[in-house]
Amino acid sequence: MVERRNVNKKKRPKINPKGKLPVHVVTLSVCITLLGLLGLLSLSYYIEVIRNDYKRLVDNDYRNLEYINRINCDIYKYQTMVFRYMTSIDDDETSSNLEAEADILKSEIENTDKLLGENIIGTDYEDKYNDIHSKLNGYFDNVSYIYELNDSEDIKTASYDMEMQLSEYIDNVVASVEEFSVMLNVDIQTAQTGLALRMTDYECSEWILIIILIIMGVIGYFRCIRITYDIINKDPLTKINDIGKLGKEMTKWLKKDKLKGYACICSNIKGLSLINRRYGANVGDKVLAKFATVMSQVVWKDERIARVGGDNFVYIVHGERVDAILKLLEKITVSVDVDDDVKVFDLENRCGIYMIGEDDNFGDILDAAYLSVHHAKKSSLPDNIWFDKELMLLTFERKSILSKYKRGIVEREFVVYYQPKVDMRKDTLCGSEALVRWQQEDSLVPPIKFIPLLEDDGSITELDFYVLDNVCRDIREWLDQGIKPVRVSSNFSKVHLRNSDFAEHVLEVINKYKIPHEYIEVELTESSGYENFNALISFVSVMNENNIYVSIDDFGTGYSSLSLLRELNVDVVKLDKSFIDEIGKGDVVNENLVKNVIHMIKDLDREIICEGVETKKQAQFLKENNCYKIQGYLYDKPLPHDEFEQRLKAPEYM
Ligand code: C2E
Ligand code: MG
Ligand code: MG
Repeated sequence: MVERRNVNKKKRPKINPKGKLPVHVVTLSVCITLLGLLGLLSLSYYIEVIRNDYKRLVDNDYRNLEYINRINCDIYKYQTMVFRYMTSIDDDETSSNLEAEADILKSEIENTDKLLGENIIGTDYEDKYNDIHSKLNGYFDNVSYIYELNDSEDIKTASYDMEMQLSEYIDNVVASVEEFSVMLNVDIQTAQTGLALRMTDYECSEWILIIILIIMGVIGYFRCIRITYDIINKDPLTKINDIGKLGKEMTKWLKKDKLKGYACICSNIKGLSLINRRYGANVGDKVLAKFATVMSQVVWKDERIARVGGDNFVYIVHGERVDAILKLLEKITVSVDVDDDVKVFDLENRCGIYMIGEDDNFGDILDAAYLSVHHAKKSSLPDNIWFDKELMLLTFERKSILSKYKRGIVEREFVVYYQPKVDMRKDTLCGSEALVRWQQEDSLVPPIKFIPLLEDDGSITELDFYVLDNVCRDIREWLDQGIKPVRVSSNFSKVHLRNSDFAEHVLEVINKYKIPHEYIEVELTESSGYENFNALISFVSVMNENNIYVSIDDFGTGYSSLSLLRELNVDVVKLDKSFIDEIGKGDVVNENLVKNVIHMIKDLDREIICEGVETKKQAQFLKENNCYKIQGYLYDKPLPHDEFEQRLKAPEYM
């Protein structure tokens, strides 16, 4: 297996960024869980209330039945007693005993009746109670009447008749008690049936509630899972998988050995930033979404596509389909609505391609494809780059540089060299450019070996401020020693323009060393302005307000030189070495171009300096065309601190 780990770590999006859920998803899940718990709590409370209610009703009804049966029983007893009393009316002792017993029994019946009354009133059977109660009262009234008959004076004479009447009456009483008992039983049965029905209703509603809650819970759970899944795995703009999801799936495929013969393509849309600038980010987003839709229809069922952030996409496709997909990616046409109009965009792509090897892991695969597309972005190279050995070596080198960089900063291995700028009118030192070098054990590494890499990685911002800090410290020392410094330009990468506090930070460092602003110049490469033009304009205006010089480095190498000059209030323009190189070689077109550029810049009231001047011929040509400030090996190479200090002390060139 080829070793390709840790390449370009910061730039390539992480496969599973921290594995953390976004805050709102966590909040949503917590809320759903709490709601579920609350629902369960209220349900169990409700069930408990229903249970108790039911229990109370059933207990009461059984107790009532018990009371009623007791009354029934007592009434029979009472009736028997009355009968016995009536038959033994001439036996004083028996009758008075029976009378006393009857009184006790009557009060017992009344007590039971009272209990029954209280109990029934305690429930919702009040009507029924009134009914029962009135019937019982009627019964006792009749019994009292029979009892009063016994007080007759002519008892012996009346006894036979009374006995006859009484037996008939008692028959009636027995019949009415029986009827009453039947009625009570019917009532109780009705009450029981009613209760049973109510209970079924309760149980039904209990189940319905449980089922509703379960359904709601399940729906909520799956909805939550879906939302979470989409947030974690889907790219919100294009609705296709993001790199995290692709990584997880590919790791599974690799385990099952399913990626044999597959290739990984990493594509980058050319000029999307132009669309963003011209039509607004809104349109850029629509273009991206359309592009993703088109491409997701191109990949087969057993292939995958994912967005890796910005205008970068990754495809896992069958090896034999790579050419077809690359052909397609050469130009994808999408149409989007722009202000009530349909605009058609032809999107060209740069691609990095890697044929997946046997023992690769997904990190290796992505690194390789990503590194290749990164190379494809260089204007001098073709649009499609396959990962190969050369790239692999480069990868090693990058890896080794990045791993040493942090230590280099801490150990202060980076040193600042100063390349003099000369005014040819008096052959004197008129300024200098700070150029960084990396002192590694026994070798001095030139910036070209590490600056582009640090720019990719984003670490360049730290290094640029490290250099500015050193420059300010050196100027402070020279001032303190009474050595008159010259204006020193410090290079700043375009990466800084992403930081809103860039200008503030520059001022902070300069002011920390109390450096008069006239001694500092900020050099920005021409391409700096392209993507973050607004940020560039506001940075330059802050520098203007603070009387800090700003120069455009490598002028003429970018795409928008003229509009840049028109819109940016820069103080100095540094004409790129490539124009100077051709001077004196018979290239009339180039020489005319240089001449006119010099005149134009002068007309615009900007200072011009030519860099990379190596020969007297070049210097003479520039002088003849009114460009007097130059920087180049003809006068000096970049000098270490002490040598440059000597130049400051003796600024004239002999
Ligand atoms: P640059 O800013 O355009 O710097 C000029 C480069 O041209 C320097 O190369 C300088 O040594 C070289 N040069 C000047 N005169 C001549 C000449 O007559 N002949 C030849 N052949 N070369 C000449 P250097 O120091 O290797 O720097 C290369 C580039 O690295 C710089 O180009 C600049 O873009 C970048 N760089 C250097 N230091 C820093 C830094 O501190 N921060 C950033 N962001 N970039 C830096
Ligand atoms: Mg420069
Ligand atoms: Mg330059």
